[in-house]
Amino acid sequence: MAIDFEMTSQQRKLKYDMREFAHEVVAPCAERGDASPDPQDAFLAMKPAFESAHKLGLPTSFLPKKYGGGGLKNVDFLIAAEELCAVDPGFATTVLVNGLALMPLTWYGSEAQCERWIGQATKSGKSDYLAGWVVSERGGTANFDHPSPNAGIQLVADFDAANEEYVLNGEKHWPCNSGGWDLKGADTNLCVVRTDRTKGGKGGLSALLVDRGTAGITYEVIDKVGHRTCQNVTMTFKNARVPLENLLAEGDGDLLINRNFTWSGPVASIASVGVARAAFEFALNWSKTFTGGGSTPIINHQGVGNLLAEIAGKIEAARYMSWKAAHYMDKYDSEGQALGGMSKTFSGELMQQVVFDCMRVVGVNAVDKKFPMERYYREALIFPLYDAGNLAMQRRKVWGVMADVAYTHDIYADCDPIEFKKSMEGFGLGNRSS
Ligand SMILES: Cc1cc2nc3c(=O)[nH]c(=O)nc-3n(C[C@H](O)[C@H](O)[C@H](O)COP(=O)(O)OP(=O)(O)OC[C@H]3O[C@@H](n4cnc5c(N)ncnc54)[C@H](O)[C@@H]3O)c2cc1C
Repeated sequence: MAIDFEMTSQQRKLKYDMREFAHEVVAPCAERGDASPDPQDAFLAMKPAFESAHKLGLPTSFLPKKYGGGGLKNVDFLIAAEELCAVDPGFATTVLVNGLALMPLTWYGSEAQCERWIGQATKSGKSDYLAGWVVSERGGTANFDHPSPNAGIQLVADFDAANEEYVLNGEKHWPCNSGGWDLKGADTNLCVVRTDRTKGGKGGLSALLVDRGTAGITYEVIDKVGHRTCQNVTMTFKNARVPLENLLAEGDGDLLINRNFTWSGPVASIASVGVARAAFEFALNWSKTFTGGGSTPIINHQGVGNLLAEIAGKIEAARYMSWKAAHYMDKYDSEGQALGGMSKTFSGELMQQVVFDCMRVVGVNAVDKKFPMERYYREALIFPLYDAGNLAMQRRKVWGVMADVAYTHDIYADCDPIEFKKSMEGFGLGNRSS
């Protein structure tokens, strides 16, 4: 029986342990955090939950055992993530971003870099250890692989050969975790930078690990409507100096971006399932108890019953596609660029509609702030917009893979590999030569 969607007994245990943790530890912090008008306070409200998660090894669970991580498979991480997201997707984003910051080391870093930076996260014993993933910019990130050096990523890192240091100038906008708990910086930030001012996005980008304490960087928190419990910042660099040894993926920052947003794709996908599931649970319970002034609970009306049936089916479909994508990432070490993108865009958009459909089931009371539906709606708004955005970065990546001769519609069903190449980048930019 090769196609098997049944959880092992350990996976079921993980699911119910995480559900308990989410309800008992995360929920009280998240309620306080989401209600706070100050975005940094909202993030700080989650610190006790983060420290408890550290005791379970959650923020480093996905990192390789070789460097002290938990070695959790993507499939298992998704099982945990759905439970966290059903309670607070902002908190789950904080945990996920630790991975977005450190997983690229395993693909593009040297052994010494992995030992040093992943080791800091896993072995320092620091219960509030945070790492940030710093790619997005105020002027837009969607065209990061544009052939012009004046488009896409504009945080510039000039090499000072005499001192063997990069000098960073520019700004990042939206990175998560990056300001740290005290707005003096995360323990480390993986920053995608332009190391060659003469080349476009397929040759001019690299990544630098920028450690806490680096002079010349300031942080300002962004206030947002959903995912209020994770921190997003504007990060300004003025002659910030970073040693050469912190460099990775030189000239391949584009591939790093695409692979990283592939690893996170199924996680973002299951995050939307988690929120939709929570909305569905509320709507289903409501439909069984609320009569709408009639003589029978509203589930007994055909219109409501049909809508609930559609909602439930869509949630099941999105969950299994997320699992499939995660399974493929486990098999090919996150080289499933098109499948990751398909899963993330499909689920994020569908689940946003599902949350609204749950509100239609509940009716006007869905917008009463004493019920959780308005919060689910605010959370669901984020899914098509974050994690590389659906309209451009994620779909352009899928498009680029499909346009290649190696792609066939059997690839993912047959679970065959397909190599991701630079020639698959740059679609939809108006000029593909670079
Ligand atoms: C909660 C949250 C957490 C986040 N965490 C992080 C993080 O940890 N690190 C980080 O770096 N960023 C983070 N972001 C930012 C996030 O990754 C964004 O998705 C990313 O900046 C891309 O946004 P965008 O698609 O709107 O791009 P933009 O470049 O802002 O594009 C704006 C619009 O133009 C369209 N567009 C532009 N060019 C094209 C094109 N060539 N083809 C088609 N459409 C195009 C886009 O589709 C979009 O509709 C986070 C955002 C949120 C809300």
